[in-house]
Amino acid sequence: MTPTPRPQIELLVRNQHHFFNSGKTLGHDARKDSLERLRSAIKTREGAIHRALKQDLGKPEFEAYGTETGISIHDITQTLKHLKRWMRPKRVPTSILVQPGKSRVLYTPLGVNLIIAPYNYPFQLAMAPLTAAIAAGNTVVLKPSEMTPNVSDIICKIIGETFDPSLVAAVPGEVEQTTALLSQKFDHIFFTGSTRVGSIVMQAAARHLTPVTLELGGKSPCIVHHDANLDIAVRRIVRGKFINAGQTCVAPDYLLVHKSIKKAFLTKLTSRILDCFGKDASESPDYGRIVNHAHLKRIMALIDPTKVVVGGKALEAERFIAPTVMDNVTLDDPVMKEEIFGPVLPVIEYENLDDIYRTVEALPQHPLALYLFSGSKSVQEALTSTIRFGGGCINNSLMHLANPYLPFGGVGESGIGAYHGFAGFERFSHKKSILKSDTWIDLPLFYPPYKNKLSFLRKIMG
Ligand code: NAD
Repeated sequence: MTPTPRPQIELLVRNQHHFFNSGKTLGHDARKDSLERLRSAIKTREGAIHRALKQDLGKPEFEAYGTETGISIHDITQTLKHLKRWMRPKRVPTSILVQPGKSRVLYTPLGVNLIIAPYNYPFQLAMAPLTAAIAAGNTVVLKPSEMTPNVSDIICKIIGETFDPSLVAAVPGEVEQTTALLSQKFDHIFFTGSTRVGSIVMQAAARHLTPVTLELGGKSPCIVHHDANLDIAVRRIVRGKFINAGQTCVAPDYLLVHKSIKKAFLTKLTSRILDCFGKDASESPDYGRIVNHAHLKRIMALIDPTKVVVGGKALEAERFIAPTVMDNVTLDDPVMKEEIFGPVLPVIEYENLDDIYRTVEALPQHPLALYLFSGSKSVQEALTSTIRFGGGCINNSLMHLANPYLPFGGVGESGIGAYHGFAGFERFSHKKSILKSDTWIDLPLFYPPYKNKLSFLRKIMG
């Protein structure tokens, strides 16, 4: 697709501000109509979206539906189901200081939003914030990832056919287009991607004091304690790590496995990988591909062949890297120096919980996710309450993000703000606080002259 020239980007953003100010996005029916049209367009184009995902990332149809189109449709349906209730002003108590009166919080749209999407779930991670933004009554300029050009094309087609560009527009392109977009004045920028680019986005937003939501990445640990159900653990870890060939922001990045069960665990892990993808995963219909050659080279450079227990092979022409497990990894290995974002699973052993704290804290950022496999309530409580991370699972991996009742987002360097379900609606809304004071009485307490009033004030405030 031809890149959008800068003057056209400027005009587009200006038109969206005019459109937003017209109030046409505000009513429930307008939002409902937009969401229904988006859902119907996704359903109509499902085959083409799946084909694009196959071309760009080798996504198996099951993953394409389960993690991209199906989940987007489900998200819209759930949003439509709850929208009226979400939009209702929320009554809150009114303090004695401001009686008599009533207090409410109104959820009002932020305005004109820029949504920047990443390449790994290139359809879903564009649609999920778009759905929340429309539900909250906003307009959106959407920038799909240029790394998945076929998906970017189909997103632009769907948006172009479904919406007036003053309401929702897609702008394809690379860094130049994103930079042109970031120079505009938006009311909110929702960015999903790397920590490095997140920082560029935040700096650009600061120029206009634009609030940002940053959905970033990081090295998410997965802990397997000695009392874990190992059969369940390997099933859920293999799914979480190797779905989309490891290109998942919340994939278990590395494993911390208790020394006493490491051998048994590795045997089960190896056989589970074999069960899922066969002897040669390049022939499995259920295994994806790396997005491009640059990322393939980057990931392969993280593998130390002397530490490989399973996998370790690549087919460059096919952008294939085998599901790989590395044992006896230390924090000095290259694989522990950056977010892996590929099908490589390093294993580090530990003896006690202090080793876990030390490892997690030695890495540069608070992880986006943490997974713990353990039957012990005290271990569960100790680790989930003391380590800083975005969110996670006990005895599972990845699946917390499939529950829209759990806000999804990072902390520290793994992100700012959360979304999904009502949290998404909230993220794209301004909470406008309104105190409606009664007029039948007007207590003289808070007005000058203050003489003889302080002691009474002390009484009610104390
Ligand atoms: P990326 O940061 O390279 O790119 C994301 C977006 O930013 C793309 O649309 C790209 O066009 C744009 N971009 C790239 N360079 C830019 C620049 N210099 N200026 C302005 N815009 C620029 O991320 P990616 O490689 O597409 O995705 C992988 C990263 O995203 C991983 O770190 C992963 O953990 C993270 N991620 C996070 C989530 C989450 O929900 N928290 C989800 C998916 C991916």
